[in-house]
Amino acid sequence: MIPIAKPLLGPEEAEAASRVVLSGWLTQGPQVEAFEEEFAALVGADFACAVANCTVALHLALLALDVGPGDEVITVSHSFIATANAVLQCGATPVFVDIEQDGFNIDPALIGKAITARTKAILCVHQMGMPCDMAAIMRVARRRGLPVIEDAACAIGSEIRVDGSWTPIGRPLGDIVCFSFHPRKVVTVGDGGMLTTRRGEWDAKFRLWRQHGMSISDRARHGSAQVVVETYPVPGFNYRMTDVQAAIGREQLKRLPGIIGKRRRRAELYQAALSRIEGLKPPVEPEWALSNWQSYCVSLAPEIDQRAVMQHMLDKGIATRRGIMCAHMEPAYAAQPQRHSLRRSEMARDHSIILPLYPQLTEADQLRVIETLCEALAAAPRSRPAPARQPLGERRPPSADPDWARAPN
Ligand SMILES: *Cc1c(COP(=O)(O)O)cnc(C)c1O
Repeated sequence: MIPIAKPLLGPEEAEAASRVVLSGWLTQGPQVEAFEEEFAALVGADFACAVANCTVALHLALLALDVGPGDEVITVSHSFIATANAVLQCGATPVFVDIEQDGFNIDPALIGKAITARTKAILCVHQMGMPCDMAAIMRVARRRGLPVIEDAACAIGSEIRVDGSWTPIGRPLGDIVCFSFHPRKVVTVGDGGMLTTRRGEWDAKFRLWRQHGMSISDRARHGSAQVVVETYPVPGFNYRMTDVQAAIGREQLKRLPGIIGKRRRRAELYQAALSRIEGLKPPVEPEWALSNWQSYCVSLAPEIDQRAVMQHMLDKGIATRRGIMCAHMEPAYAAQPQRHSLRRSEMARDHSIILPLYPQLTEADQLRVIETLCEALAAAPRSRPAPARQPLGERRPPSADPDWARAPN
């Protein structure tokens, strides 16, 4: 069986975790501090704050920007649901805009039209590790005076060219960047997250909030020769990362260049092999972007039955996944009216598939994936092309036809 993904962990991670257990200091201690420093250096950020996962990182990022009830945050529906959920958790409303024609990231051209008097922030997603068009996003954001959060859950090790030089995702191009260390991402600690920013006062807030709003860190109290009594200036959360996770994370960071190199070689092979296949469009890497290829997602011609292709591959022992979900199509978001067309997001969900890609994937196995995909495409039922649709217009009030933004089926 060829799985969709596989974390790369070894005895180094196991030994690092074991050392922490035996050290007796298990949470938010010296390992977390070292992991933060190494992470900040890796991505070129001034500040990095470790937390329990990326979802809570997004929550704290939004709180730092003062996002609260009544506010709107412009983001994509076409993302893992945690992106939208973090906005809801602040009591704010995610305003979904569509993705680009040729990619799976937010279309910067649609942001301006979605801005209202209530808009508090823009939350863009470097989807599947492919950097967003940050230059275009930042132009709109700066012109309209809006802060930008980058959901880089999948994008550690990805790079973007800015003013002629390559910059790792994480040295914030926006204001705050959030990462995930879930096993489905490029490096993992089990569960974990990181916030990077240029602003010391935000970093200080993250540190306060992640530890119950407590004025002094355990590290500082432990190291003090004086009796220190903490205070709780604000209500906080328990969003801590443990030292076990951080110690694993430090080993994972050492592996990162090797992991990215292997992922890029695998992606190159896919790109070369899949570029001339009928009914298939490989992902586009803009010339100013270098993806870490956290996921490799191909688009199918709309008349090809996505599920049939996936089932054919599964029958041959190859796992695939459908394209990225759309939050607005899930029951959790059914009550929320959509203001903007999300047609490309819906098309991407229903007409693309993610292929296996991980550093241990051998070339022989990858060739098997490619061959089987070709067979599956040839065998899959084709529907008649859908009739040309009415152009979707923001002019039409959603209430007139609540289903207007949904895909025809
Ligand atoms: C995985 C993911 C998240 C959530 O990360 P966790 O660490 O599991 O909380 C958020 N956003 C995107 C785009 C993701 O892919």
